[in-house]
Amino acid sequence: MEDQGSTSESRHGKPYFKDMLQTIDESGGRRWIFPKRPKGRLYTFRWLVAILLLGFLFIAPFVSYNGEPFMLMNVLERKFIIFGQVFWPQDFHLLVLSIIALIIFIILFTVNFGRVFCGWACPQTIFMEFVFRQIEYLIEGDSNKQKKLDKQPWDLEKTFKKSLKHVVFFGMAFLITNVFLAYLIGGNRLGEVISSGPLANSGLFLAVFVFALAFYGAYAFFREQVCIIVCPYGRLQGVLLDEKSVVVAYDYKRGEPRATLKPNQNKLETDKGDCIDCHNCVAVCPTGIDIRNGTQLECINCTACIDACNQVMDRIKQPRGLVRYDSEKGISTGSKKFLNARSTAYSAFLFVLLSIISTLFIIRGDVEATVLRIPGSIYQEYGPGNYSNIYKIQLVNKANADMPISLSLISHEGEIKFIGNELTAQKGKVTEANFMVVISQELLTASNTPIQIGIFSDNKQIDVYKTNFLAPESLDK
Ligand code: SF4
Ligand code: SF4
Repeated sequence: MEDQGSTSESRHGKPYFKDMLQTIDESGGRRWIFPKRPKGRLYTFRWLVAILLLGFLFIAPFVSYNGEPFMLMNVLERKFIIFGQVFWPQDFHLLVLSIIALIIFIILFTVNFGRVFCGWACPQTIFMEFVFRQIEYLIEGDSNKQKKLDKQPWDLEKTFKKSLKHVVFFGMAFLITNVFLAYLIGGNRLGEVISSGPLANSGLFLAVFVFALAFYGAYAFFREQVCIIVCPYGRLQGVLLDEKSVVVAYDYKRGEPRATLKPNQNKLETDKGDCIDCHNCVAVCPTGIDIRNGTQLECINCTACIDACNQVMDRIKQPRGLVRYDSEKGISTGSKKFLNARSTAYSAFLFVLLSIISTLFIIRGDVEATVLRIPGSIYQEYGPGNYSNIYKIQLVNKANADMPISLSLISHEGEIKFIGNELTAQKGKVTEANFMVVISQELLTASNTPIQIGIFSDNKQIDVYKTNFLAPESLDK
């Protein structure tokens, strides 16, 4: 991408932005970021999205649907419930397909729309900006107050505010860890574990405590470093983005040459660019970068700088959008076309991919049946003028309740007799049974006759299985 920040060094006498990390000082230590609380239209939208996502996260494992949790990721018992649909190990192919589709989706989506996911839906950003950062604003105040508190000696006020913040942070981390545990073991089971006390489940309690500690550490101390250093998705931006990818971008053509606006000076009377070098876009950035230096690895596309700059533009009576969603190509050529042939093709491919996955999920039946003739068995005479064959049926019940199963010969008149008890397909299990098909000799014209067996539950046909019925070779003549 075009280097838009080459003016930074000469203008401010600071090290060139590409030679340094904003979160590391000259001595190699951590430079703490105190982002200003953002305000603006996009921030309001992001709040709405965050409330929806957090609401879903906190409620979903505790909501029951058909007697089961609405969401469950029980890795130990290999049982998954997604939006009320139960998935068992037999659905592994669907899981693999979905993961492949998700990876392709993320790649194509990123090529087209950059890190939109990071700014709007990534759990790290949502928890950091809309949970932990909000607690911090509440206890310590906005950016300037936080900086002041940080610098002041450990007096009563600082000790109280910092202690309170960290206690609330850990409480929140502990709560979130418990919600994640509910996704693993189910909301009801979590209720039982909590009511029986930590000593009754000391191993589980210890695990939750350790995870809560890790969570607390991530949001209290590690913060933006998760996005900058740890997140593999962030690291991939260099190969995923190109000049046509839509990202949060500074319009350097409109903004440069930047110049500060003197008090009472009218922007319209200056011959400089629209950027008044107020640094408001930098002040709100949670990763501490200056978007005017161009697309950077640290940018999580949170849009806080767009809101901040739009407010400045309103104040100096210039059009909004000096910092906006746009591509490098869009900014350099002035083209307003967001979709080009490539992004249209990628979007169409994504649509087809998602349609295939959705169809596979929709046509996935509750019961999978396999019918095989008992190996080595042939026909038997069954009373005068009848022949019988013995089969084994194997049923995989993927529904969340036991299902009574009955069989019926639908291609011929004849009888099906279970050997043993009637058949019930147990939920989440593989059930096997042997049965006998009896057909009158008069209805058979060959030694190997294709037959169809209907599989029913509560008088509803759930599958039809095709197999062969053996009879004496004399019937072939
Ligand atoms: S907020 Fe806008 S005007 Fe102010 S420094 Fe950033 S880009 Fe320039
Ligand atoms: S540069 Fe802008 S969009 Fe990127 S992280 Fe900073 S504030 Fe968010």
